[in-house]
Amino acid sequence: MRSVSIFGATGSVGKNTVSIIQGNAAAFDVHAVTGATNIKDLAEIAIALNADIAVTSEKERFAELETRLKGTGIAAAAGRDALLSAAADPVDWAISAVVGYAGLALSLEIAKNGNTLALANKESLVCGGALLQETCKQSGATLLPVDSEHSAIFQALNGEKLEQVERIILTASGGPFLHYTREEMAGVTPKQAANHPNWSMGLRISIDSASMFNKAMEVIETKELFNIPSDKIEVVIHPQSIVHSMIGFNDGSIMAHMGTTDMRFAIGYALYWPERMDTGVERLDFTKLLELDFKQADAGRFPAIAIAHDVMRQGGLAGAVFNAAKEQCLDLFLDQRIGFLDMADLVHKTVGALDSFGNCDADSLDKISKADKWSREFVLKLSKKSNKYV
Ligand code: NAD
Ligand code: MG
Repeated sequence: MRSVSIFGATGSVGKNTVSIIQGNAAAFDVHAVTGATNIKDLAEIAIALNADIAVTSEKERFAELETRLKGTGIAAAAGRDALLSAAADPVDWAISAVVGYAGLALSLEIAKNGNTLALANKESLVCGGALLQETCKQSGATLLPVDSEHSAIFQALNGEKLEQVERIILTASGGPFLHYTREEMAGVTPKQAANHPNWSMGLRISIDSASMFNKAMEVIETKELFNIPSDKIEVVIHPQSIVHSMIGFNDGSIMAHMGTTDMRFAIGYALYWPERMDTGVERLDFTKLLELDFKQADAGRFPAIAIAHDVMRQGGLAGAVFNAAKEQCLDLFLDQRIGFLDMADLVHKTVGALDSFGNCDADSLDKISKADKWSREFVLKLSKKSNKYV
């Protein structure tokens, strides 16, 4: 039996993880499951998996969680410190599937244990890639990707030499606005932006996919995870999302990972690695697969990728500043205080102003947190200063 913990168990990736574990319950001993505001789901998951402890990040929701777990023998805890303490509990395998910057501190805590960290929280690598890699190195932890593109690349790299990789090609669906003009994109609502054509995901990553900020994050994630130069990372639009990503080698060969659009591919691979197990994903039927299209991403309508390259050129705290600006802009967009295209404009300006804060190596959580805070405040100041954004 392997001991496992699920951070962000009530989310989209978390629930997929829960369902895989439930499908093979005898193989796993579940320690911690965590969530935020959805206490009913958190308690149900904890009971279904017979976890040792359920933790909510929301301190004021403790009583509700405790009541729902009464008589089950499952411990309840709440607040950020309780989450960090659960992450410090050693288990064989833990998944970091919390959304946003809050995931970094948890990923670092899990990594300190020296076991396996399955990483869905891409913000961890974007904000603190070097720090997380160093933490894994120190503890001997194994870092396995759970983002579908990065799992695809990881699988295609199996048995290959990194120095023989010519390029990594990340596929992007193009999101719901692939065929919109810039003028049309300017007026879209959060509801329209959240409507991803292929993947069923959490609200924030779905809107990030529509703006291609998600792909921009993934470009940085690729650099940090595989230690590959940024000029070797390409993005190609592939509306069907069947090819999950590709590697081009120095002999011109391309290795592609293909499958249906189901996160259980990536989660299952990280859970059972180095073995493979059937998690029940639908099989590709080549008699029904009509076409696979690929086209260039339009930099004019999707400036996020170019911003990612600026971030990688700047290095240091730029990733943290980029992520925080993007998260702040998403909140403003969700509140309908800025338009869809204003997000890229504000993030671009904030990343461009990093020198006024002072860039340096992102080698401690403290430095990264200060940069995160500065960036969010900078976006708010910018958005208030100009009438354009209100
Ligand atoms: P989600 O919004 O569906 O779920 C997020 C989870 O995090 C929930 O359990 C929520 O309770 C918890 N959470 C939210 N705020 C928190 C906080 N401040 N502290 C602690 N916990 C908090 O998100 P998701 O779509 O499952 O994505 C999770 C992560 O995985 C993100 O980093 C995302 O970019 C990445 N990812 C998701 C997918 C996908 O298919 N959904 C694919 C690839 C990568
Ligand atoms: Mg992805």
